[in-house]
Amino acid sequence: GAALAIISVSKVSKRYGNELILKDINFSANEGEIIGLLGPNGAGKTTFIRLLNGVINHDTGSISIFGFNPATEGDEIRKLSGIVTESAGLYHQMSGRENLNFFAGLYKVKDKKAQIDKLLNLFDLEEHQHKLAGAYSTGMKKRLGLAKALLHNPKILFLDEPTNGLDPEGIRMVLSYLKKYNQETGTTILICSHVLHQLETICTSFAFLESGSIIEHAPLHKLEAAYIKELTITIES
Ligand code: ATP
Repeated sequence: GAALAIISVSKVSKRYGNELILKDINFSANEGEIIGLLGPNGAGKTTFIRLLNGVINHDTGSISIFGFNPATEGDEIRKLSGIVTESAGLYHQMSGRENLNFFAGLYKVKDKKAQIDKLLNLFDLEEHQHKLAGAYSTGMKKRLGLAKALLHNPKILFLDEPTNGLDPEGIRMVLSYLKKYNQETGTTILICSHVLHQLETICTSFAFLESGSIIEHAPLHKLEAAYIKELTITIES
């Protein structure tokens, strides 16, 4: 059947003071997609994710996620979404398992133990589950942050720079876990990043945010080749 749009954004703008941070954004995502949201530092990626989750409100336009408006029904959206920020909000003085147990309690996860066991297994953290999270490597912290965001089986996952600070092997691992999870559950994933080439193998489409506007949103093979080259140069210089 026809793919179902679960994120629908129309003519959205957002100001901070006098500064227009997001301008007239149109965007949509279908169920099961993995979308790369790309753009240089300061382009507005984090602000966009905050708007989608109702952490902050948009000024004009409309946003619908599973039919809910984040400005007034953010609680409903947050029940259906998982968010991983750069810091992931982990408690470093608790073990990996204790972190998951704490957040599972907070989110009122049913069948807590089974869910935690499943996620520790999925992210290869079983043998590290009793170590303090503060002693985890960057890659392990990223994986624990993902497990935390998936405790309540969200239908959509928002990731802010999930590969930052990882070595090539760590990047490959995190991306392959995400792909596997998407294939097993059909969860829609939106990944913010400033590196296109890392995401090439897992994203079904890419949206480019530049100076507050989405200037293109298409599958890799349909992107303007000239633009990709320009972006790569801008970002890696
Ligand atoms: P990065 O990759 O560096 O996180 P980004 O694309 O996520 O960048 P945002 O964090 O969304 O960009 O920031 C977009 C712009 O909005 C920046 O110019 C930033 O300084 C500004 N900004 C973000 N949060 C606020 C705030 N709370 N008050 C004022 N300005 C803000």
